[in-house]
Amino acid sequence: MKILISDAFDPSLPAQLERFGEVTDDRDRLPEVDVVLVRSKTKCTREYIDSAPNLKLIIRGGVGLDNIDVEYARSKGIRVYNTASASAIAVAEMAMALMVAVPTRLIEAHNSMKEGRWAKKELKRTELHGKVLGLVGAGNIGTEVGRRAAAFGMEVIAYDPLLKNHDFLSLVPLTELFRRADYISLHVPLTEETRGMINEETMAAMKDGVVIVNTARGQCVVEEDMAKALESGKVRAYGTDVWYSDPPDPSSPILSAPNVIMTPHIGASSRENMLRIGDVVVKLLEDFEHQIA
Ligand code: NAD
Repeated sequence: MKILISDAFDPSLPAQLERFGEVTDDRDRLPEVDVVLVRSKTKCTREYIDSAPNLKLIIRGGVGLDNIDVEYARSKGIRVYNTASASAIAVAEMAMALMVAVPTRLIEAHNSMKEGRWAKKELKRTELHGKVLGLVGAGNIGTEVGRRAAAFGMEVIAYDPLLKNHDFLSLVPLTELFRRADYISLHVPLTEETRGMINEETMAAMKDGVVIVNTARGQCVVEEDMAKALESGKVRAYGTDVWYSDPPDPSSPILSAPNVIMTPHIGASSRENMLRIGDVVVKLLEDFEHQIA
């Protein structure tokens, strides 16, 4: 079989895949290939799929399938898989990093030292301990964040309409989560329900001074509304790894809003995760080989 590695995977992956057939990273060879490996950069639209007449399998190294027209691919008999739980630890650590940076004043403290200022007196801190964390989405990543936050002494509550119960997270209605949470962390897929779910109206239902962390998808938050909430202090800080587009448009109001901690969509990009994703890709190709044999 011919395999196109269309986005950035671990450098060890091409050699691991050679036993399955010819491996290329030349995107111009899309019309010939049987399998395409993508992360988030390649957009598998209808047109993309139509230009790959031999395509039988798309593997998304990562979780969200919102860069793939899954319905259209499946209607053409193309299988679509992701590497589901592989990224949970990497993204959970990123969400925790964004969260911990707020009460520790990590960014301001670091910047003040770089500027040659000794801000020991002005940098008053708070703690995560004893605060309520509301997880929106309690799947693989939300669960890992919940474990870590509990170890920090936070009370963790979660909203997930598709779960009836959870091993250790306390599931609550979204209205209760908004009312009670000091910190809110998003771990939902991008769907019609979650697009824009953090907006002026929903933020009004939250505690004053709430901290919001987004490692899910940029479009889950209405950026203009978030910028206004940061200006007014309704939201104390917004930690985000995700954007409307990668990279964000320079006019994004989040880039210039106060109290934002931002990273360039690197939640899943740990070395360990890249290796885990590679292992899952190999397993999926083994299964695929058996299915078509
Ligand atoms: P998952 O499928 O294991 O969990 C998602 C959970 O969200 C599910 O339990 C689902 O029931 C729940 N959900 C669906 N609709 C909801 C709604 N309206 N309100 C509340 N909960 C809802 O997925 P995961 O592995 O935990 O990943 C979650 C998301 O994180 C992905 O879909 C992706 O968008 C994002 N992600 C980001 C990065 C990054 O680099 N920052 C990396 C991987 C994943």
